[in-house]
Amino acid sequence: MMVDHIVQGSCDTFHIPNQSIGITFYNELKRKNHEKIALIDNEEISYGKLCKTSINLASQLIKLGLKKGDVVSIVSQNNWKYLAATISGFYIGAKINFLNHDYTSGELKHFFTICPPNLIFCSKKSCNNILFLRNEGLLPEHIILFDEDETEYLTFDELVKIDSDFYPVEVQPETDIAIIPTSSGTTGLPKCVLLTHANLRVPLIHFGDRNFLDFKEDDVTIGNLPFFHIWGNMIALTSVFYGIKLIIIPKFRPEVYLKTIEDYKIETLFTVPPLLIFLAKSPLVSFYDISSVKDVICAAAVITKELEEMVKDRLGLKAVRQLYGMTEASLGITMSPTKSEKVASVGKVLPTNKIKVCDIETQEALGPHKIGELRAKGGGLMVGYLSNKNATMEAFDNEGYLRTGDLGYYDEENFFYIVDRLKDIIKFKGFQISPAELENLLIQHPAVKDAAVIGIPDEVAGEVAMAFVVKQPDKNVTEKELVCFVNENVCAQKRLYGGVRFIDEIPKTSSGKIWRLKLREIV
Ligand code: ATP
Ligand code: MG
Repeated sequence: MMVDHIVQGSCDTFHIPNQSIGITFYNELKRKNHEKIALIDNEEISYGKLCKTSINLASQLIKLGLKKGDVVSIVSQNNWKYLAATISGFYIGAKINFLNHDYTSGELKHFFTICPPNLIFCSKKSCNNILFLRNEGLLPEHIILFDEDETEYLTFDELVKIDSDFYPVEVQPETDIAIIPTSSGTTGLPKCVLLTHANLRVPLIHFGDRNFLDFKEDDVTIGNLPFFHIWGNMIALTSVFYGIKLIIIPKFRPEVYLKTIEDYKIETLFTVPPLLIFLAKSPLVSFYDISSVKDVICAAAVITKELEEMVKDRLGLKAVRQLYGMTEASLGITMSPTKSEKVASVGKVLPTNKIKVCDIETQEALGPHKIGELRAKGGGLMVGYLSNKNATMEAFDNEGYLRTGDLGYYDEENFFYIVDRLKDIIKFKGFQISPAELENLLIQHPAVKDAAVIGIPDEVAGEVAMAFVVKQPDKNVTEKELVCFVNENVCAQKRLYGGVRFIDEIPKTSSGKIWRLKLREIV
């Protein structure tokens, strides 16, 4: 649908009630077949166990003194207890703050200062890091370990042993905060994003829409993307909700990932660009039977048609699909429809959302094929950032649309395409170059394992493109060869005038994005 250059998602009636996300999960977990396996995390966790565990835990959290509106932080690698703790947090109306388990104590201090927790769930590994903060007076009274432990700390297992009854507390869905995820920190310090109970209804609506995700009960998928990031978290929660068995992988290890696909005959893979590069290029892939895979969905950063084609051909798929989203939008803004075979598109506007593409200079909403900033509205839009009024004000335009900071356009069939982040666009004499385009070209070279491109200052042109390249271990290639390879395939402005530098690894954020900030630091 289109009104004044605003592209809208289909607004059918939504089957998820607008209420506490805790009540929604509670009812669904009660309703499920309790014998059925929900999660595999070394052991099999049935729906019965997940249902009972989250009720018992919620009841114990209240006994420990937690109240509605308190902050519960989770600092841990992926495991099934992470999801049970999240669901219990929904039940008691807590604000759940997901934090990267790889954060240093300095980084944790930053988040605990702006978002002081009343209770922390963590794994033993992260616990040591957290304890440094004791001297800073930043530790809450209660720390609950997911692992067994002989020390003074409470453990998850001890708490959930105690059988109890609990019914989720009532909340104001539109205003009460359910989760506080952090953005990826690709362009600066990660921001704490405030998402309400009503917001969390939206990913359930999106992933429950057959036009976008054709999940069937009894499907199986992999939970390898980090639960502390909105993409990994929403995949996990919606899988549990819709009865999709989730095989949890705490840390990406190539062999384990491929073996899991082979053993469980996984059909749908949720990915990020580095994982697509792995599927396209790693020699290991040929040693496993992954012919079960029928649907690959990628989110988090720009991928181009060349990378899509490589994955498509190797895995024998009709298409690689994309989801385009942001933490600030409770994940999805657009997604390739299930039947779409459009290449390099991030798909159509998801239900509940609408998008306009605004001219950078005039701010005016543009028609098809015109590049501008994507701005989105919809049921998933955050209420704002925690303790950051300025950033919150800047995040929305005067019509209440979220400024995504991403450049893109849509075609006459309302399919969207992302060019790149506004902040990453390289300006060569006023001509705009998308680093993603050059990166995707570079990784097609057989000797290139991974690549990243940034703009570096240039007296004449303003900026020129330069590349960082990781070589395939058994291949040799020179800077000159790679520069020629790129330059032969692009117009004059896009040439690698800044040259190529070989490095051992491209810095990436934990949510799978090239960390250009870090690369700019080492130029
Ligand atoms: P920060 O806001 O802290 O700098 P971030 O923007 O990377 O980090 P996220 O919320 O994880 O934090 O990511 C949202 C961004 O990811 C989008 O603004 C967009 O730039 C990028 N993105 C997500 N999905 C896609 C996609 N399919 N294609 C292109 N870019 C994408
Ligand atoms: Mg962002």
